[in-house]
This record gives sequence, C-alpha cells and structure tokens, in this order.
Amino acid sequence: MTLKILALGGDGIGPEVVAAALRVLDVAAHSVGLDFDLSEDLLHGAAWEKYGCFIRPQTLDKAKASDALLVGATGGPAWDHIIIDGGPEEQDGLMKLRHELDVFACVRHARAWDALLDKTPFRAQTVRGADLVVMRELCGGAMFTRTRGREIHADGSQRAFDLNEYSSAEIERFARVGFEVARRRRSQVVSVDKANVFIAGKLWREVVDEIGKSEFPDVELAHFYADNASYQLCCQPTAFDVILADNLFGDLLSDQSAAIAGSLGMLPSASLADLPRTGRVQGTAIYEPVHGSAPDIAGRGIANPVGMILSLAMMLEYTAGEVNCARKIEGAVDAALNMGHATRDIGGTLGTDAMADAVIAQFRAL
Ligand code: NAD
Repeated sequence: MTLKILALGGDGIGPEVVAAALRVLDVAAHSVGLDFDLSEDLLHGAAWEKYGCFIRPQTLDKAKASDALLVGATGGPAWDHIIIDGGPEEQDGLMKLRHELDVFACVRHARAWDALLDKTPFRAQTVRGADLVVMRELCGGAMFTRTRGREIHADGSQRAFDLNEYSSAEIERFARVGFEVARRRRSQVVSVDKANVFIAGKLWREVVDEIGKSEFPDVELAHFYADNASYQLCCQPTAFDVILADNLFGDLLSDQSAAIAGSLGMLPSASLADLPRTGRVQGTAIYEPVHGSAPDIAGRGIANPVGMILSLAMMLEYTAGEVNCARKIEGAVDAALNMGHATRDIGGTLGTDAMADAVIAQFRAL
C-alpha cells in the first residue's frame, strides 16, 4: 500500500512542527516498510498571502484524493479579521477542509507523562496514569450553524447569535465513532451535555443513550453535565477514558485536558469520517496537533513538535493500520522525555528540531 499524504503546514508554528514530524515519518515509515507519496501545499494565511484565498480548489481536490492530511495550524492576527462571503467554513482554510471532508469525529488524546508530572498544575498523585480521549464533534453545532448573525437595532444596541443545533443523525454517527474508539481503549464513555438546560442537550443525551444501549452494550456509558465534567476532569483526571462532547464543549474540554499533559503543545488529534469495528479507516482523515498557530513564538524554532509527532502516530494507527509503529513513536516520546529532553513550554531548553531529533534517536533505540 502506498499512503497518499498531503502536508499543509499552515501558519505560525504550523510549518515548523510539520517539518519536524515529517522527519519522524521518514524514519518510522522506513522501519515498517510503509511506502508513502507526500505532497505539500499552503493553507489559510499562507495561501491568502500567495493566492488571495484561504484554500485553492486544487488543494481541496488533492486533499479529497489523499488518505491523510498532516496539518500544522492555521490563523493569526494578520488574517483573523478577514470576512469572506458564505458560512463559517469559508472563513478558515482548515474549517473548509473539515467541512468538505466531513471529518465529524475528532479524537483528541491526552495523557500524563511521568517526566512531566511536576509541569502540570496537578499534584503528581492526582494526575499520574491519566490517559483519556476527548471526542469532539467537529462539523456541526454552534461552530457550523447557518443560523448565525449580528443585528444592529435602531437604538444602536446589537444582538448576535450562533445557534447550537444538532440533528439526531449528526449525533448518531458521532456517537458510533466515539463508542468504537472506546472499544479500542478501556470501553468507558462519559457523554457530556447540558440536558438540564438546552433542548439540543436533551436530544444529545437521548440519542447517545439509545446508540450505546442498542449497539454498544459492552461499553460502559455515563452522562455528565458539561460543567460537572469540567470539574471532575480537574479533580480526578484518571477516572476518564473517552469523553463524548459536541463541537463547543469538546473544544473547551480538550484544551483543558492539555493541562494533564503539561502543555497544549503535547496534544495530538485525528479527525475521522469513519472508524470500522477493526482495521484502518477508509475515508480521508486529518491529523493535526490540538494547539493553534502560536503567533507569540512563531519563527523562533522553539515550538514543541510533540503534538504534531503524536498526530503522525495517530495517522499510522488509524489510516495506515500500523498500530505497533504508532505505539513505538509514543514510546520514543516517553523515553525522550524521561531522558530530560524538553522544549521550553515543558521546562526544557531544546528547539523544535532538537526535540524531534531526540524522539527519532529514541525511536531508533527501541
Ligand atoms: P495557541 O494554541 O496558538 O496558543 C496558546 C498558547 O500556547 C500560546 O502561549 C502558545 O505559545 C502556546 N503554544 C501553543 N502551541 C505550542 C507549542 N506547540 N509549543 C509551545 N507552546 C505552544 O492559541 P491562540 O493563541 O488562542 O491562537 C492563535 C491563533 O491560532 C489564532 O489565530 C487562532 O484562531 C488559531 N488557532 C488555530 C487552531 C488550529 O489550527 N487548529 C487551533 C486553535 C487556535
């Protein structure tokens, strides 16, 4: 099998962390005899500067014909104010990709690394061993609603709104992937909503409950209100396996879960359009770190590449089916951290390339 990969560095630190991860890909793919066909292109701000659009039609075509996209990050002060005609997906090259590829199930993995326990805001005994996934619904809800707008009234006052709407079909397909992810882990799901307040939350709870009971009776399911879920995630992070959340709650809870790992720069993600019971995904998937373009440190070569490198590991697991190779990359990151290799955000002095070198050296040694 030859894996078709499209790498889109994007903006800020995005191209820096993607370049580092591609060096890991070379070594990892070679170790398992995996062939890949790599192409690169511009996304969002970088595309805007060169082509005057956030994503070119030919980039979109190439993305659709790829097995996997490796995306760095998009956005920045130079482009955040630009408003394009059309829905939310037109305002951002990455949102456009998520929308067009319909990668509605975003898997965000956070774990406590032994070497970084004292870099977290937690007591070591509270966070040690934490290993969880926040599943974020990625193509619906308030972030993609058509019912959005801003009105200016005659008296000068204003009203703005973004409707948090979900259909049962959107919740069903997302819940199924979430339960499948749980089956590949410890088979425990906590679904998060505000069913006590929002009607959309009531539907969310009913549909997740129905899918869980009828199709995944082997998976343990609990329902938490989102505010309590956030609190419990602080108090007992080790209690969670898979959290199912809508687009907005998932956005918040996944950044919160980064505190467990010691830095936002440590978190990977996989955005999927399907996940079979066993084996590899068939549709095009996007693999990207959870962090943004970090304009405050861009261009200095100090960004932590681990979130991107672990996203690459997720690509090897989900798209290539090379699960052992994925585990080996995670093991190499763990070993590098245990040897004291670290970027500034996690208390070290290494630059992006040196951190990637440390991971590659440990990968070779395992
Ligand atoms: P951010 O994630 O870019 O940065 C938040 C903080 O974390 C900053 O202090 C940054 O320096 C630090 N940080 C993030 N990644 C790091 C890494 N790999 N290594 C070391 N430190 C790291 O969030 P923000 O500042 O709110 O947003 C900046 C831009 O990124 C905005 O334009 C926003 O819209 C965009 N954004 C993009 C994505 C994405 O592409 N998926 C996600 C979030 C934000």
